[in-house]
Amino acid sequence: MKISHIEHLGIAVKSIEEALPYYENVLGLKCYNIETVEDQKVKTAFLKVGDTKIELLEPTSPESTIAKFIENKGQGIHHIAFAVEDGVANALAECEENGIKIIDKAPRKGAEGLNIAFLHPKSTQGVLTELCES
Ligand code: ZN
Repeated sequence: MKISHIEHLGIAVKSIEEALPYYENVLGLKCYNIETVEDQKVKTAFLKVGDTKIELLEPTSPESTIAKFIENKGQGIHHIAFAVEDGVANALAECEENGIKIIDKAPRKGAEGLNIAFLHPKSTQGVLTELCES
């Protein structure tokens, strides 16, 4: 597959409202979008950092995978998202050929309406990995 850049880094936070002043006032980044992804039970906030982004993830329900992540590991980096140039479906097929465990068998819509799919951290050297269309 061909990866063009790191699309974003996903960071799990207990509260976007509490996290944003650090990113905006200390780091000087600007939040340009806050959006709730209902089926993922997560609220997201996006900040641009050059060609890449930070995606803050706040759980909207105790059943959210983000809530479970924070419970187990605390707040922090949750996943890395790579932009793939030849489409998420092609990249997934390639991963399957290589025996990589896939969480999303087919691309689905993530935040910002992009096609995305997650690879299982058991197959990705411990890092939850998201593939995004660029
Ligand atoms: Zn993400």
